[in-house]
Amino acid sequence: MDVRDAERRTDGLFDAGVSREPNFLERIIADDLSSGRVTKVITRFPPEPNGHLHIGHAKSICLNFGLAERFGGECNLRFDDTNPTKEETEYVEAIKRDVAWLGASWAKLTYASDYFARFYEWALELVRAGKAYVDFQTPEEIRKNRGTLTEPGTDSPDRNTSVEENLALFEKMRRGDFADGECVLRAKIDMAHPNLNMRDPVLYRILHVAHHRTGDDWCIYPMYDFAHGYEDAIEGVTHSICTLEFEDHRPLYDWLLDNVSVPSRPHQYEFARLNLTYTVMSKRHLLELVTTGLVRGWDDPRLPTISGLRRRGYTPSAIRRFCALVGVAKANSMVEAEYLESILRDELNATAQRVMVVLRPLKMVLTNYPEDQVEEFEAENNPEDPSAGRRTVPFCRELWIERDDFEEVPPKGFFRLSPGKEVRLKHAYLVTCRDVIKDAEGNVTELHCTYDPATRGGDAPDGRKVKGTLHWVSARHAVPLEVRLYDRLFTRKDMSNLEEGKSFRDYLNPDSLVVCRSFGEPLLKNADPEARFQFLRQGYFCVDPDSTPECPVFNRTVSLKDSWAKEVRKRS
Ligand code: ATP
Ligand code: MG
Repeated sequence: MDVRDAERRTDGLFDAGVSREPNFLERIIADDLSSGRVTKVITRFPPEPNGHLHIGHAKSICLNFGLAERFGGECNLRFDDTNPTKEETEYVEAIKRDVAWLGASWAKLTYASDYFARFYEWALELVRAGKAYVDFQTPEEIRKNRGTLTEPGTDSPDRNTSVEENLALFEKMRRGDFADGECVLRAKIDMAHPNLNMRDPVLYRILHVAHHRTGDDWCIYPMYDFAHGYEDAIEGVTHSICTLEFEDHRPLYDWLLDNVSVPSRPHQYEFARLNLTYTVMSKRHLLELVTTGLVRGWDDPRLPTISGLRRRGYTPSAIRRFCALVGVAKANSMVEAEYLESILRDELNATAQRVMVVLRPLKMVLTNYPEDQVEEFEAENNPEDPSAGRRTVPFCRELWIERDDFEEVPPKGFFRLSPGKEVRLKHAYLVTCRDVIKDAEGNVTELHCTYDPATRGGDAPDGRKVKGTLHWVSARHAVPLEVRLYDRLFTRKDMSNLEEGKSFRDYLNPDSLVVCRSFGEPLLKNADPEARFQFLRQGYFCVDPDSTPECPVFNRTVSLKDSWAKEVRKRS
């Protein structure tokens, strides 16, 4: 394929319609293809199955699968399952589901654990070449003797054990003759190297722990740094892309590949990880939120996990577009949560079915409307998309309106309903508030209004001005709903940088979930689980899997406007 054509395209799934300059990785790949260093681009997305994926992983998925797509190559989904203590099959399945949901199709599905026997052979190769040794120092001694940035490390007493003895010891490690932590296999590189990662890094450790795929076959497990490059080499990965914190590990990646005979020679490149405001992304924090019940599970709609975003109502296309727009950089930065929301809002504005839902209902009775009469009003399904057609909305004498749309003593500038005021009921009539009914405690329980039959459709023939327009639901036809209003999980913008002595728990937003007993138009009774709605004047909503035929449940995906900026000012 012509590299320049590849650079220009915007029609790929992961281009998401975004036209932009090629990023630094695309330039590198284009050069590699035109110089012939590479004939086919192979990338990989290598999650460790120790939790669910989050929006940061989505960026890595879009990048790796996007590069393969753009340059006519392939991308593998590889489970980097080298640490049996934290990994589970349940996570493997969740990750596969999330990657597929984002639209990525992997060329191969692979597991690092499938390569354990080959890793072991390469470790032996290093031992035989005198480039690795078994070290019996304690983990503390190893750490202490590594030295510092200004001081060189100290050689282990085991550093000069003979090759024969190391081969025998490593074999004993593998056989299970030693306990966890009794010894490790280390590379023999340079204890005075300016890069601490090169001061005889640990390659293998002993863990008498069953692995979710290999069971008890192994009691020694390779370290990430040892395994990763070899995984890439086995799979013929040409461009191994990881996040910036691995930049200092690249010399080790190269050393390991250059000191054994590998079937291919991959190269590592680093890009900046995605950080988002008002949330946490480290798996440790996400796991804590889930296991302590601070959220309802990995797919809680307040989490930045892909399963949480899906349940919240995010679409794969909005996430791909977000990743394409954020782009790929060499410097870490923080992306505003509002940016992600605005991309979704734009998409849903163009596609979502409009419907009227009263979140916090207040009864309105039209005292001059005939008891048994029912009318049907026509409404557009989506004013942004005429092809979405129209629907009818039933209307009768008793209606539900939004409690917030009535004020007995209206503040200045309040254009909604108050005693004696006239407002428009969307698609229907102009109504005037005549009487306010209250219970013994003085709470407003009902409004008695009159409608003007001459205003059918919502306009007054005499041209009188009516500012407020309210949404409503016919009480006789209303479908009871549970509506879950989600907000940010945390109140702090930069959760990666907390105040002294504080934990992320100190910033939990107590109002991150508000549940409403609501009423909606009849069409919500049998909503498709995949459908997306705009509840008029409220925001975008989706069906939650907790829905039952008796009580459909909806999640607020995103509000209509960005109300948070104002909210922050109010709170501070
Ligand atoms: P944690 O450290 O929380 O366990 P991780 O980054 O180690 O997370 P992995 O499963 O190892 O999680 O990540 C798989 C891939 O996703 C890696 O290539 C990693 O670089 C990438 N990735 C993870 N988080 C982000 C992020 N925030 N932005 C971009 N890429 C990310
Ligand atoms: Mg990792």
